[in-house]
Amino acid sequence: AAMREDRIKKTKTVCTYCGVGCSFEVWTKGRDILKVQPQSDAPVNGISTCVKGKFGWDFVNSEERLTKPLIRKGDKFHEATWEEALSLMAEKFMEIKEKEGGDKLGFIASSKCTNEENFLFQKLARSIFQSNNVDNCSRYCQTPASAGLMRTVGIGGDSGTIKDIAAADLVMVVGANPSESHPVLATRVKRAHKLHGQKLIVSDLRKNELADRADLYIHPKPGTDLVWLSAVTKYILDQGWEDEAFLQKRVNQVEEYKQSLEKFTLDYAEKVTGISKDTLIQVAEMIHESNGTCILWAMGVTQHLGGTDTSTAIANLLLVTGNFGKPAAGAYPLRGHNNVQGASDFGTMPNWLPGYEPIENDLVRGRYEKAWGIKLPKNPGLDNHQIVDGIMDGNIKGMYLFGEEMALVDSNINFVHEAFEKLEFFVVQDIFFSKTAQFADIVLPAAPSLEKEGTFVNTERRIQRFYQVLEPLGDCKPDWQIFQEFANKCGADWKYEHPSEIMAEVAKLAPIFAGVSYDLLEGWDSQIWPVKPNGESTPLLYEEEFKSKDGKAKLFPVDWTPPMEFGKEFDLHLNNGRLLEQFHEGNMTNKSAGINQMVSEPWLEVSKELAEERNVETGSLVRLISPYGKVKVRVLVSERVTGNELYLPMNTVEYEKAVNALTSSYYDKDTHTPNYKEAQVRMEVLEKT
Ligand code: SF4
Repeated sequence: AAMREDRIKKTKTVCTYCGVGCSFEVWTKGRDILKVQPQSDAPVNGISTCVKGKFGWDFVNSEERLTKPLIRKGDKFHEATWEEALSLMAEKFMEIKEKEGGDKLGFIASSKCTNEENFLFQKLARSIFQSNNVDNCSRYCQTPASAGLMRTVGIGGDSGTIKDIAAADLVMVVGANPSESHPVLATRVKRAHKLHGQKLIVSDLRKNELADRADLYIHPKPGTDLVWLSAVTKYILDQGWEDEAFLQKRVNQVEEYKQSLEKFTLDYAEKVTGISKDTLIQVAEMIHESNGTCILWAMGVTQHLGGTDTSTAIANLLLVTGNFGKPAAGAYPLRGHNNVQGASDFGTMPNWLPGYEPIENDLVRGRYEKAWGIKLPKNPGLDNHQIVDGIMDGNIKGMYLFGEEMALVDSNINFVHEAFEKLEFFVVQDIFFSKTAQFADIVLPAAPSLEKEGTFVNTERRIQRFYQVLEPLGDCKPDWQIFQEFANKCGADWKYEHPSEIMAEVAKLAPIFAGVSYDLLEGWDSQIWPVKPNGESTPLLYEEEFKSKDGKAKLFPVDWTPPMEFGKEFDLHLNNGRLLEQFHEGNMTNKSAGINQMVSEPWLEVSKELAEERNVETGSLVRLISPYGKVKVRVLVSERVTGNELYLPMNTVEYEKAVNALTSSYYDKDTHTPNYKEAQVRMEVLEKT
């Protein structure tokens, strides 16, 4: 038995799925993954995992993995060597840069890949191609949350840690479904609620699993969160329940903000949101009676025309009630992907250098220019959304995208496909031949997290290291190595031998990472940014001051932007989100036989009332039609949805069922995050059962 044990390799990794950031050991023998073994040392999850982290790893050994670079010739792809693929790529990209300018190139980064990889990718775009057109998929989800926090308290991240959420008196979840999207975090809330008397309010269109357990479940009309949040804040102020001392000492613009609330009376809110005045008062009372409130939110809030404003309204409410800068309180935007926080933190954004320092700031840019020995472009670049529009307008000619299934997860995908067809030169780097790869000129085979080293940042700003479990399959390479080889083909002289050297460079350049080092991240250790030069973490933000010139927060007036209307014939509201078992479009989880057995395709949730009215039942086949496209899905009659509100999970790799064939190209006015949650459709019954 000892011999057998000896041949089993046990390696610490960090989950590749959601932003909770569970870590565990992976036990392997050769390329066989024997099991995932959680350890009590894991700082976030201890011995817990969810079904994805535990069973979702078959994709690594899938026969569908890309193993060689591919070059398009006509309609077909041919296998190529790295030398051939990278040389062609360098030639084409340099040609576009020299003839038309580097700002004709777009760079789409990956929130699934490491911090070090994202750092190198933006360095590549900015230093070699002089392009700030670099963005990541937080543009599709949580950029509005960050923007709302930056306006008010200054830092686009969770105020505290998951431990603070578990210790709060009151947890309020708005437009999020943690039981399925952030399962281990949800178990912390469930435990605190059940065992420690934590109070729980859930607000969502869909009565999700956490809502079933809540002390209070609220169902606002679609797209009206800002109104009820502002009305609750106004009521708190009207009752004199605000934290007066906190406001006086630590917050600016109080009077101006109070005036902006004038219209948000309980009567107005009841009319707009459909939530009764009594319920609104109950919410206000629960916040008033709690010693500390944490508000958790996700894409039900952000993916709207006014997503940033609603996120701002959440921060305003927390400021008025003094719920920042103390344990067991604060703002918690729940990050979706494993490293969506880190991708932004490490600079794959058009307007920020790593650590949220503005690219336009001469001093900041100068620091990078000195270190890299090259001038950098000053003006903010294009974001994901603008890049797609730029392709259509002829302003973007070439694009380099890695680890992002944009052909399925961007909104209004039929339009996005049209854009991709127009690209002069398109490189896609991934572990699978994704739907996006079908539009590429060159496809590069990358290594998933189990085949490389690096770090991820979870939703609590916690940086964790993971170690290499397996050798890269076939000719696959870690993304950072591919970037380096490509950069050097374009004339750079990068010599990183290990991701730790990349992190050391970041630590020298970005103040919030000053004390981050691989030594201090060894094993199960982690660091939470901002990390002081001596290596000390900051689990709780704003204890002394907010991030602003005078150290004070700002109450930021916002108004309500009603959701889009698409015409009377589109009579049903279409909400969308995630399933527990699958992750995102499913490119990885759908390679797990066990997971596919549990849930193989997304079903359209239809309310009992609507099912009766339209004469459909569970299993019926329907077509949904929006102004932008159509899908064909089966019905699941469900008590989680009500009235004319439908719910379709996003987890599918089939265009036929993809919710984003139905979503529009409209977006949050402040950040260009698509208004995925404002889709409207009509339904045709194709087959009763
Ligand atoms: Fe992975 Fe998230 Fe599940 Fe943890 S909760 S195991 S990080 S998917």
